[in-house]
Amino acid sequence: MFHWIKRLFSKPSCALCGKRARDPIPYRNSRNEPVVVCRICSDYAERRAYRKR
Ligand SMILES: [Zn+2]
Repeated sequence: MFHWIKRLFSKPSCALCGKRARDPIPYRNSRNEPVVVCRICSDYAERRAYRKR
């Protein structure tokens, strides 16, 4: 349960592939939660209705 909290304070990792995002793009997911997505996954993020912050 505290895993996601830990993630918030550590270096951002991509919400889709889970790798550390070198060039993170801030998005909001379908539940309006703030996430970051790496550039490689950003196409996929938009298809999953993520919105840019
Ligand atoms: Zn990614």
